[in-house]
Amino acid sequence: MSSSAASVLDLVPGLLREYFKERWDATYPAAPWHDDAASGSLFWNGSQAGTVPLGQVTITKGSGKIGTSEDLRGKLCAKDTILFGGLRCRVLEPITKTSLTVNTKPEIEGTFDAFGLEIRCERNAPSNMAGSFEKHVLPGNLSSWDITLLLFALVNSSHQLLQCTAAQQEPGTAKCGECYCCKAQALLTNIRNLRNNDYGHVQQCGIKAEQSEKAQNIIMAFVKHCLPHKESAIEKQIGDLGNLNLTSDI
Ligand SMILES: [Zn+2]
Repeated sequence: MSSSAASVLDLVPGLLREYFKERWDATYPAAPWHDDAASGSLFWNGSQAGTVPLGQVTITKGSGKIGTSEDLRGKLCAKDTILFGGLRCRVLEPITKTSLTVNTKPEIEGTFDAFGLEIRCERNAPSNMAGSFEKHVLPGNLSSWDITLLLFALVNSSHQLLQCTAAQQEPGTAKCGECYCCKAQALLTNIRNLRNNDYGHVQQCGIKAEQSEKAQNIIMAFVKHCLPHKESAIEKQIGDLGNLNLTSDI
């Protein structure tokens, strides 16, 4: 039995961690990733201070529904954070032209300046995964992030680390499928499928040579596009794994 495909798959978490850090740093150059709790909190909770002016809000004591002086529909969505009058609240839907709802019933009343976060909190975590994601994200230590969390962070997170360039230029347009980010997303989808479809199988019955080759091709295609500076190093690593398996098969 050759275990080379399983070994090749073992390279995936490390590669995804490196790519996540690159994309985070490219997205937020002023707040590069440091593998610490400050980075983890930035990902999960967003910036600490509210620095983005959102006009004024009018609060009625005890009511979560607040009036807004600006139409905030393009600036905030559900789960976003809004700060006013010393409070930090989460936004609930619906958001209308003149109002929104927050997740608390403020004990204050009156009109206050409102602010949003420069780096917004994570809003896309599926509810059944949010607890486990949060536990691993907050310490900020990438070595504890598994493939599921890394793929979420790269592909599905509201931080949009791989946002289609065309959609970015013209909000509302569908993905172009052609730009750097769309290609990276497709390559990451291949890795997700490889993990979902093949990895369980690998562990149960060992791996056939062609599956091993397929895994290598998928991983190398990802490395070429997303981590080109690692290409020769990873090629060598995969080659070494192959030799190791050849030797152990004799
Ligand atoms: Zn695109």
